[in-house]
Amino acid sequence: MTAYPYETHDYDVVVVGAGGAGLRATLGMAEQGLRTACVTKVFPTRSHTVAAQGGIAASLGNMGPDSWQWHMYDTVKGSDWLGDTDAMEYLAREAPKAVYELEHYGVPFSRTEEGKIYQRPFGGHTTEYGEGPPVQRTCAAADRTGHAILHTLYGQSLKNNAEFFIEYFALDLIITDGRCTGIVAWKLDDGTIHVFNAKMVVLATGGYGRAYFSATSAHTCTGDGGGMVARAGLSLQDMEFVQFHPTGIYGSGCLITEGARGEGGYLTNSEGERFMERYAPTYKDLASRDVVSRCMTIEIREGRGVGPNKDHIHLHLNHLPKETLDLRLPGISESARIFAGVDLTKEPIPVLPTVHYNMGGIPTNYWGEVLNPQPGNPDAIFPGLMAVGEAGCASVHGANRLGSNSLIDLVVFGRAAAIKAGEVVNRKEALAPVNKAEVERSLARFDGLRHANGAVPTADLRLEMQKTMQADAAVFRTDKTLAEGVVKMTAIAGKMDDLKVTDRSLIWNSDLMETLELANLMPNAMATIVAAEARKESRGAHAHEDYPNRDDVNWRVHSLAHVDGPKVTLSSRPVHLDPLTKAEDGGIDLKKIAPKARVY
Ligand SMILES: Cc1cc2nc3c(=O)[nH]c(=O)nc-3n(C[C@H](O)[C@H](O)[C@H](O)COP(=O)(O)OP(=O)(O)OC[C@H]3O[C@@H](n4cnc5c(N)ncnc54)[C@H](O)[C@@H]3O)c2cc1C
Repeated sequence: MTAYPYETHDYDVVVVGAGGAGLRATLGMAEQGLRTACVTKVFPTRSHTVAAQGGIAASLGNMGPDSWQWHMYDTVKGSDWLGDTDAMEYLAREAPKAVYELEHYGVPFSRTEEGKIYQRPFGGHTTEYGEGPPVQRTCAAADRTGHAILHTLYGQSLKNNAEFFIEYFALDLIITDGRCTGIVAWKLDDGTIHVFNAKMVVLATGGYGRAYFSATSAHTCTGDGGGMVARAGLSLQDMEFVQFHPTGIYGSGCLITEGARGEGGYLTNSEGERFMERYAPTYKDLASRDVVSRCMTIEIREGRGVGPNKDHIHLHLNHLPKETLDLRLPGISESARIFAGVDLTKEPIPVLPTVHYNMGGIPTNYWGEVLNPQPGNPDAIFPGLMAVGEAGCASVHGANRLGSNSLIDLVVFGRAAAIKAGEVVNRKEALAPVNKAEVERSLARFDGLRHANGAVPTADLRLEMQKTMQADAAVFRTDKTLAEGVVKMTAIAGKMDDLKVTDRSLIWNSDLMETLELANLMPNAMATIVAAEARKESRGAHAHEDYPNRDDVNWRVHSLAHVDGPKVTLSSRPVHLDPLTKAEDGGIDLKKIAPKARVY
C-alpha cells in the first residue's frame, strides 16, 4: 500500500479534458441527464483550442455553392486515402448541423453583409470534387475562432450542470475485467488524490505536439490520453502522421493561420518568386498543408530560403487592404509584431514549417468508442472508454488533416460521443466498487516518479527527445534518418528509469507534473518514430524519400502501435472503405473518391 489516501467521486461519465472536444462531449452528456464530471489539468478556457485562429469547416454554402459531398471528397483526398470513409462522411454530413448548433449556443461568428456566418477559403477545400475553384467553407470568428467556441461551450456546460474538476491531473485509467471503470487524478493545488468511478470515461486530452522541439501547440499538449491508453495495454493508431503547418513564425514557432493565405497572403523565396505557382498551379498557396510544407522545405534545401542563413520563407500580407487585416486577421497582426518584430502592413513575415497537429491517436469508431482490435475483429470495442478530438483517431484526417477540419472534428465527434453514451450508459445501474488494486498500481507509479532519484533531470531528457524527433521524424524522412531515430529514441525512452525529480512536494509541483507529462509524451514519440520507420511509402504528411510514391496495395492500412516502455510492437487495421449512405440514397458516388494521384 502506498501512503496516499484518496477521495472517491461517483459519476455516470467522466470526461478528461476541457478543450473543444471535451467541452462539447461534456455539454452533450449533461444535456442528456447523465451525471457528468469534466476533469482538466488547465482551466477550461486555457485549453489549446483557445489558440485556434482560422476557423471551422462546414459546407454552409453562405459564400457560393457548396455541398457536404464536396467537403467529404476534399477530406478523403486530403487524408491521402487513409481516412475511414464512414467517419469522413459522418464528419462532412453532420458539420453544418454542428456549426448551426454552435451559433445557437452563442458563438459570435463574423458575418457577411446579409448577416450570415462569414466563411473564408482554406487549403485543400474545393468545389466540384476538386475540379472547381477554391470554396469559402471555413466559418470564422475573425482569427479567434477557437477562443469564441471554447468560451461559449464552457458557459453552456455550466448551464447544463456539468461539474468541473479544474487543475486536476489525470494519472491513469482504471481497468477492471477488460473495461474502463474510471480514472485516478492528482489535484494540483492541494496535493490530494481523487478517484473518479464512472460507467464511461471520455479521453479528450488533445495532441502531443510537444514531443517535438518546435511546435505551434501549447506546452500542455503532451499526449496524456495516449500515454494512459498505452499504459493500459491498448494500441495507438497512425502515429507516423504528424502535420507540419507551413507558417509557424521563424524562431518562436507561434502560428500564423492558414486563413492568412485564405485572405490572399502568399509565400515567396529569396528570389521573390511565388514558388507555389510552380508546384501547385491550380490551388497555389492554398494547396494542402503537407504539400505546401514540403515545397517550402525543398526551396530552402535548394538554396532559395530567405534570411542570412537562407533557412526560412517569407509570407506576404503587406499587399492586403488594411481593413481586411484589421477585421479578419487582427490576432495575427499582433502575433507578427510580438514574435517576429514585423509590421505586416509593411513587411513579410518570416515563416517555417512547424509541428502543428497529430493525425494519429487513440483508435475509435465514428461514435468515439475506443477500438481494441482483435484477430478477426479489427473494430472490437473496448468497453467503458471513448476518445474524441485530437487525442482520438476516428479516423477522419488519415495521413493529412485539412485546415479547419479539426475544430469541426471536435464538435461533431464530441456530440456523437454524447449521443452514443446516452444510449449505452445505464443511468440506473449502480456503480461497481472501486478497483483498489488498480488505484494502488497507479499511485505506486506516481510515487516512483515523485521520488525519482536518478541521473537525468526531466527537462534534459525532454529536450533530447524533442531534438531527436525534430531531426529524425521531420517533414522529409529517409530510411537512414528513421533508423537512426529509432535507435536514439529507444535509448532515450530507456532513460525514463534514470530520471531525477528534485521537488518532492505535492502542491503545485511543476517538476513532478512535467515528469508525468514526459512519461506520456514518450510512448507517443516512440510510436511515431517506430511506425514511421516501418511505413515504406509516402502518403500525406509521411514523405519518405526512399519510397516517394504512395503504395495502396501494401500500405493503405492503419498502423497500430503497442508501446511498452521503449519497446514498440506494430500491427495494422484495415481502412473502412464503405460510406454510410449509398449513392442512390444521396450519398457520395464511390467513383468520385476512388484513389488517384493527389495533385492541387
Ligand atoms: C495554434 C493553433 C491553431 C489552430 N487553429 C486551428 C483552426 O483554425 N482550425 C482548426 O480546425 N484547427 C486548428 N488547430 C487545431 C485544433 O485547434 C486542435 O486540434 C484542437 O483544438 C484540439 O482540441 P482538443 O479538444 O482535442 O484538445 P485541447 O484543446 O488541446 O484540450 C486538451 C484538454 O485536455 C486536458 N488535459 C490534457 N491532459 C490532461 C490530464 N492528464 N489530466 C487532465 N486534463 C488533461 C487539458 O486541460 C485540456 O483541457 C489549431 C491548433 C493550434 C495549436
